Amino acid sequence: MPSFGGRVYRDGKLEKAVLHVEGGFIARIDDTPGDDHTDFGERALLPGAIDVHVHLRDPGATHKEDWHTGTVSAAFGGVTGVVDMPNTLPSTTSVRAIREKHRIAQEKVVVDYGLWGGATWYTGELDEMLQWAVGVKVYLGATTGDLLLEDPDAFKEALAACGRAGKPVILHCEAQRVLNEYRRNEVEPGDHDRGRPPLAEVESIYDVMKAMPGVNPAPTIHIAHTASTDALQAATAAKFSLGVCPHHLLLTWEGWDMADGYAKVNPPLRTAASRDAMFEAFRDGRIPILESDHAPHTPKEKEDLFPSAPAGIPGVETLVPLLLGRAAAGDITLQTVVDAATRAPAALLGLTDRGRLEPGMRADFAVYDLESPEPVDAQALHSKCGWSPYGGMPACFPSHVYLRGEPVVADGELVAEAGNGRCMTRLPEAP
Ligand SMILES: [Zn+2]
Repeated sequence: MPSFGGRVYRDGKLEKAVLHVEGGFIARIDDTPGDDHTDFGERALLPGAIDVHVHLRDPGATHKEDWHTGTVSAAFGGVTGVVDMPNTLPSTTSVRAIREKHRIAQEKVVVDYGLWGGATWYTGELDEMLQWAVGVKVYLGATTGDLLLEDPDAFKEALAACGRAGKPVILHCEAQRVLNEYRRNEVEPGDHDRGRPPLAEVESIYDVMKAMPGVNPAPTIHIAHTASTDALQAATAAKFSLGVCPHHLLLTWEGWDMADGYAKVNPPLRTAASRDAMFEAFRDGRIPILESDHAPHTPKEKEDLFPSAPAGIPGVETLVPLLLGRAAAGDITLQTVVDAATRAPAALLGLTDRGRLEPGMRADFAVYDLESPEPVDAQALHSKCGWSPYGGMPACFPSHVYLRGEPVVADGELVAEAGNGRCMTRLPEAP
């Protein structure tokens, strides 16, 4: 049976060990190499990351990304499971659309995947759609796509359907009434922050709290991409799950040196002081989940006039490597980074077979040299969109990535074929 040796991440620590793999799962962990052994020496074996928030644009906008390029990009960043958002064309808001998206995905993916269903005013298909989804995404503020949910009864019904299904609700929290009130002419990236202030995040989180009484059983609520300490205080007080994106931990619109449109994202990039406070909160363990909100657009689209440029920043490939770069510099512990990208997202999605390297779990892992971060080469990344705001930042990319004990990336080369990945959640039948 194949075995893999190196410094294995278990319970927050790296320990010299050997993983023995049988049928795609970890059969045992000990210190004796098997007869079919791969030795990674001092390199670290971390669990495959699970990114609960990507926009792979397929179907409908495959000039930006598709299920193949998006999952190849994920693999090169050590991400072995991605969950796609419903704002594609058509949007993933019906049983028909979600089954069709599964069919498209299953032909193209090189890592595992899942799908969020989208909530709309029409709630009649929610229960059946949830059999095909990891949970439901609700947009409480207008952003890319046309999925703003303003009907409070439909919102309550979406919460109730997820409660019945035992699945989470993930929310884009920016209150539309605040966005309407603060909307302004956008001349430069700072105007986007002023026009979508932290108040919009906070008010929206309060709206979720107000909708919860009477929803029984209550679903797990995950506030996506918190972008201000005000938002994370509100979400924490409400006992909601919450996530943060690397762009809110590492970037600011202040002193932005690419074309302005590249800085546009919802919720917005904020000030350097806000970014630093968010990093501190993440470092101190106050934000459990790291998510990319990978939202590719082409350079041509992003170089449009600032008000008309689409919102979104790519990041599934750099999600883990950038934060490992910060861990290598001693700015944050390895455990905080790894658990937020592996164990915590698996728990949010109710996935009990992955997110940790233990006997009985899947052999999904990535191999890193954690001692020698290198600057991100934006041109070497694999997303179809072809740009990144993180060029030059220190990062640790994996040399090898394994799914079910089989290589997806080996020595920096893609070795898996399209269709290699599977859905992370159980489906009622073939899509
Ligand atoms: Zn998103």
